[in-house]
Amino acid sequence: MLRIAIQKSGRLSEESLNLIRECGISFIYSSLKLKTECTNFPLEILFLRDDDIPGYVADGVADIGIVGENVLVEEGKAALTVERLGFSKCRLSLAVPRGSEYESVQDLNGKNIATSYPNLLQAFLDARGVQAHIHTISGSVEIAPSIGLADAICDIVSSGSTLISNGLREVERVFKSEAVLIANPELPQEKQEILDKLLFRIHAVQRASRAKYILLNSPNDKIAEISRLLPSIKAPTVLPLAEEGWSSLHSVVNEDDFWEIIEKIKAAGAQGILVVPIEKMIV
Ligand code: ATP
Ligand code: ZN
Repeated sequence: MLRIAIQKSGRLSEESLNLIRECGISFIYSSLKLKTECTNFPLEILFLRDDDIPGYVADGVADIGIVGENVLVEEGKAALTVERLGFSKCRLSLAVPRGSEYESVQDLNGKNIATSYPNLLQAFLDARGVQAHIHTISGSVEIAPSIGLADAICDIVSSGSTLISNGLREVERVFKSEAVLIANPELPQEKQEILDKLLFRIHAVQRASRAKYILLNSPNDKIAEISRLLPSIKAPTVLPLAEEGWSSLHSVVNEDDFWEIIEKIKAAGAQGILVVPIEKMIV
């Protein structure tokens, strides 16, 4: 049995649960429960505060966990990053009141900065030779300047709208973060084997999330040209249509290149183009 710690309720919770489900792992979920055992995979899920997850994984209370890199690095615990998960992307930034003068990070010398991430901020300031007073507070950091608690803040930003609505201006990016899967560095072999199986499934889910299955009709004399435009795992599948002189082509395209490819194959004579999501992809 492998134990995974995920955030009980917060910005990481839903996507963490979704990832486990997309790996084909079933469990009974109740927001009141602190742990649940999966029914078709040797995995037990613990629901915890995100800040506690790196410590529990380092201590072996949980074997693996899902946490924001910002929390992992801030906590400084001995847990290994085994996979970047690509969700909960955000950054830790310094911000000052909109009207205040700010030209460079040196302007923060001697200032008071409020943050929930004192270690990440201290490392950033040390690397630039800035000496400031760091006030560690656990929440509502963005109101600190307006109540006279601090001259600047260092907080998590994604779109920046919270900063704007609190009259703040982002001035420095301190750290870039996304959700990561972390593991205890000394897993016993039977747990490592379960983790390897889980990672195999995660890779299949991640590959599939970026790929689309594409089907189109092509005049037979255009198959070669359209096939060259379609990337595929091996070569596109070509099936004859009931209508003489036409074939159906099937392939897989990457979401990033998607629109460009569609335009080119249309111009080359493709018709009836269908694009469908892929659930899992094993290559
Ligand atoms: P807990 O009660 O578990 O301690 P919390 O309030 O500390 O929760 P959340 O606000 O739920 O934490 O954020 C969890 C993680 O999600 C953060 O550490 C960060 O990695 C990421 N995150 C935070 N804010 C955003 C955002 N606006 N957009 C995307 N990701 C974010
Ligand atoms: Zn937290």
